[in-house]
Amino acid sequence: MSLSYHIACIVGIFLVGCSSPTPSASPLSAASLTLNPNRPTFSADSAYAYIEKQLSFGPRIPGTAAHRACGDWIVAELRRCGAQVVEQQGHFKGTPIRNIIASFGGDSPGKRILLSAHWDSRPWADRDPHTPQAPVPGANDGASGVAVLLEIARLLSQKPLPYPVDILFWDAEDLGREGIEDSYCLGSQFWLSRPEPFPPAAYAWGIHLDMVGAAHSTFLQEGYSRQYASTLVEKLWQVARQLGYGQLFPALPGDPIIDDPYYLSSRGGIPMVNIIARDPLGKNFFPQWHTTQDDLSHIDKATLQAVGETLVAFLYTYTPTHLTAQ
Ligand SMILES: [Zn+2]
Repeated sequence: MSLSYHIACIVGIFLVGCSSPTPSASPLSAASLTLNPNRPTFSADSAYAYIEKQLSFGPRIPGTAAHRACGDWIVAELRRCGAQVVEQQGHFKGTPIRNIIASFGGDSPGKRILLSAHWDSRPWADRDPHTPQAPVPGANDGASGVAVLLEIARLLSQKPLPYPVDILFWDAEDLGREGIEDSYCLGSQFWLSRPEPFPPAAYAWGIHLDMVGAAHSTFLQEGYSRQYASTLVEKLWQVARQLGYGQLFPALPGDPIIDDPYYLSSRGGIPMVNIIARDPLGKNFFPQWHTTQDDLSHIDKATLQAVGETLVAFLYTYTPTHLTAQ
């Protein structure tokens, strides 16, 4: 994601607005949902520790020793949770890629659910006024999404879901340059060029997490998610509201953002929701975005809890066949 992409996206808002005369809002009056009372309990402490651990390796820049070591740890952690893990390695547009794909529930028939986040961190803090050449620690931009999903992997190992779930950790999401088309999201683009172990058609829908740990986060209903997975968006935001997180998840439209789920939806045909923090006006990412200040001190367990708890309640209530994407 970059500023110029963002500007391009603003154009997109009007396009979306034209095709959708009532862009705002899931109805606040929707009937209350019956959430599965036997769902496991998400621990923000555990998710926070997973962020801390990723940061302990240093910046996770593709091709570096820190990146390799963190990847090895993620794979070991997923295997410890009982997942079948496939590491997809290769080069895409000259960049080394290591996507990590963890399958729960084997290759059982029926539609699968895809959960994802990017696990690399940005090599340059190009929004940092003081040290734009320094790497971004990536506590929120990268590690937070991985951490929430690792905690969910831990819960899946204790209480399996009745349908198969794959957790995909994309590499090389954040190597993009302003104005260079498709220079972000290299890992997900690589996977779409040769998907494994399952094709995109195996997935009923998916949920992507990006920047889900900063204090004072607001999760607007991201534009492409509303375009490609409107029913999912409505239900997810309704679950959040019902759990008491309506302020973090306002039923308000956000702008479309070029991110991994954009490629998965538009090119892979997988209806994806992107849970990604924007400020309440939908103009900016979190204040430390792409700076050297994206560190642990700006992570808030309350945000991790809201996102994790919502995701768990959603996954343990809905099966892939419960929802059609549109
Ligand atoms: Zn980023």
